[in-house]
Amino acid sequence: MLVDLIDVRRAIDNDELEPCFQPVVELHTGLLAGFEVLARWKHPQHGLVLPENFISLAEENGMIGLLMQRILRKAFLSTPVLPAPLELSVNVSPAQLHDLSLPSQISKLAEEGGFPLERLSVEITESGLINNLERVKKIVRKLKNMGCKLDLDDFGTGYSSLRYLQAIPFDVLKIDRSFVISMTDKRESRKIVAAIIGLGHSLDLITVAEGVETEEQAEMLLRLDCKMGQGWLYGRPLPAGRIPQMVETEPWMRPASYSMDGNDGTVSSLEALPAQRLSQLQAIYDGAPVGLCFLDCNLRYVSINQRLADMSGAPVAAYLGRKVEEMVPQVFPAVEQYLRRALKGEAIHGVEFFRPANDPGERGATNLLSYQPALDEAGEVIGVSVVVTDITERKRAEDALRESEEHLRRMVDLNPEIPWAMDSEGNNLDVNSRWAELTGLTKEQTHNLGWLAVLHPEDAEGTMKKLREELRAGKPIDIEYRVKSVDRGWRWMRLRGTPSTESSGKIVRWYGSVEDIEDRKRMEEALRKNRA
Ligand code: C2E
Ligand code: CA
Ligand code: CA
Repeated sequence: MLVDLIDVRRAIDNDELEPCFQPVVELHTGLLAGFEVLARWKHPQHGLVLPENFISLAEENGMIGLLMQRILRKAFLSTPVLPAPLELSVNVSPAQLHDLSLPSQISKLAEEGGFPLERLSVEITESGLINNLERVKKIVRKLKNMGCKLDLDDFGTGYSSLRYLQAIPFDVLKIDRSFVISMTDKRESRKIVAAIIGLGHSLDLITVAEGVETEEQAEMLLRLDCKMGQGWLYGRPLPAGRIPQMVETEPWMRPASYSMDGNDGTVSSLEALPAQRLSQLQAIYDGAPVGLCFLDCNLRYVSINQRLADMSGAPVAAYLGRKVEEMVPQVFPAVEQYLRRALKGEAIHGVEFFRPANDPGERGATNLLSYQPALDEAGEVIGVSVVVTDITERKRAEDALRESEEHLRRMVDLNPEIPWAMDSEGNNLDVNSRWAELTGLTKEQTHNLGWLAVLHPEDAEGTMKKLREELRAGKPIDIEYRVKSVDRGWRWMRLRGTPSTESSGKIVRWYGSVEDIEDRKRMEEALRKNRA
């Protein structure tokens, strides 16, 4: 669109400039926080003309101050419809930052409209600060004394100098639309947005993302802990007449996962200051009973906790920034493949690893390792989190148990007696495998009363009867009977057992053994015969 200087002058004289109001929303709650005032020109022929067509013309021709006055007067006059604590932000051109009367102009206009200066933010861009810092400082001091807040607009696009952040007491950092728009598909933009938000947190500045058009962007900004959002997702700039309607609108977005409900007055982890959150995490990290470290994509230590540092025997500081390969060369070949898989996005848990001793005299350790890829806001792997659990003691206990079980089994096997267990009804639950070798019955066949099948027909009934009596009486069992052996014919056996009771005295099990007494029986028989 072609407009010329005469047009702009006429627009100002004829009062054709109008303020429009664009909502600024708190991302966590979706609640309206205020509006940015944006200039529009109601052109008699061209309709609504955007600032890009007339602002620079006004700036270059010394009319921007007048233009601002026209816009702000109307803006403040329409603010009775703006309930507290909603705020207004207004744009000031770099050219206006040469004018020391700017603060008094603003306060006069706000006073006329009855708008409290504590709810007003003045937006300036970095270009206004170049070669003009001392004058801006004076203007800013006045504005701050009046109660106004100060926003650094379009951050990242101008001559972003950290010096300005240090020199001027800004309250708000507005992240330029160009980064926000591309942040969901452009890695660099996302990293820049994340860095600006981080910078804002460190300097205690409120961050406002401009140009939020999609829910995906809003969601990502929320995850990056950006405080405010402004953009078409929440609303376009609209004339003053539409303010009541915008104020009444329901909160924009309240993702369930970020709900801040709960009226117990406690500060949720999301509200906590990042520094506070970091120290909470650091405490967990340091106090964890397992070794923890975080490695970047080049397998360098970004962090390591004391526990893991101790396992390898070097101080924490020695690891930071160094490669795993370099710090634990004896371990690296075994863990490398898992680290590489995790860097491709795979989570791997419970990998056992024997770590050789650091000193020749010592014993090695058994570790259980888990590898978890760490993802950024867009799901890109940015490193691996490794958890190392020392299971040496458990391993030793398990080995010791296995050894003692083996020992016991050998003792049982060498013992001529065959151990068994019965329930309180006399059903066989278990019998040593030598019973199977002796009788040819499988373990399953011996279950319950199955073992009676190999008893001599003359002994079976008597044995059953006696067993029942003894079970009932709860007295120790002692019965003799003959059993058909696989290779040595009928053999006399002696079954003995004692009850095992629970605390109430109730019998829960019987334990005992069967002993081959054939040879003894024969000897006794022979003795008897000799005597006779
Ligand atoms: P700005 O201060 O960065 O204002 C934000 C601009 O982004 C506005 O453009 C707004 O309409 C636009 N915008 C907001 N949300 C979205 C979105 O989701 N998508 C897209 N594509 N755009 C969005 P607008 O109103 O055309 O203003 C352009 C610039 O003109 C402003 O940029 C500001 O630098 C200047 N300006 C506007 N009003 C005034 C004023 O009263 N005084 C001065 N000095 N400058 C003004
Ligand atoms: Ca602005
Ligand atoms: Ca801006």
